Amino acid sequence: MELPHNLGTRVGILGGTFDPVHNGHLAIAEAVRQPLNLSSILFVPAFLPPHKPTYAISAFSHRAAMLDLAIADHPSCFVSRLEAEREGPSYSIDTLRTLRQTLGQDVHLFFIIGMDAFAEIHTWKANRELLEYASFVVIGRPDHCQQSCGQTVAANFPGYVFNDSAGCWQGNPGQGAIHPVAMVPVKVSSTEIREAVKLGRPIGDRVPAAVANYIEAHGLYR
Ligand code: ATP
Repeated sequence: MELPHNLGTRVGILGGTFDPVHNGHLAIAEAVRQPLNLSSILFVPAFLPPHKPTYAISAFSHRAAMLDLAIADHPSCFVSRLEAEREGPSYSIDTLRTLRQTLGQDVHLFFIIGMDAFAEIHTWKANRELLEYASFVVIGRPDHCQQSCGQTVAANFPGYVFNDSAGCWQGNPGQGAIHPVAMVPVKVSSTEIREAVKLGRPIGDRVPAAVANYIEAHGLYR
């Protein structure tokens, strides 16, 4: 599997459908990079998202191409097409295993996830095993990020205790930590962008210009 050579040793992983990528996704990358001192952020579009069967998802090639355009000006962001190389649904556990095998034990992986998705973590395949490969970074609203994150940690990850000086929940040695990161929400979703395009409304304030041009040029979401 091809991965960039300059990922460094603290790699954030942001998975999603990215249909299309929008400014909220880019804001996440900005919000987590500094507090966690990440060397790079890898955007991993899902080939077949296990949780999203309700609408006709755009071709993987389009979603990945829009990501390439969106991060072109972000030097430490990269796109991985590794989920397209696997058959069947794109489970995060398989992705983390593959990344661990490819990058080796010296790289710390940080699996970035929104609070809304983290609250549903009990429905994910092998959810506890995820922490054997990566730490979690949970993005929440500034007013109640730690509180809502704590409820999900208590319900799903027994043995995890909040360490005040480290600012995260920690489990047994060797297991990943769970880091809450507060971010002022960016009011945008892919759903809303698809709907706006369908209605012929402008989206230039919510996606990078190159992505808006791509959507237009390829007639996506009409
Ligand atoms: P859709 O509207 O199709 O459900 P989405 O906008 O939620 O899509 P995804 O590709 O599913 O986009 O999101 C990938 C990740 O980014 C998820 O962890 C999700 O919680 C997070 N995310 C998406 N939009 C935002 C936003 N505006 N602010 C913070 N996090 C977001």
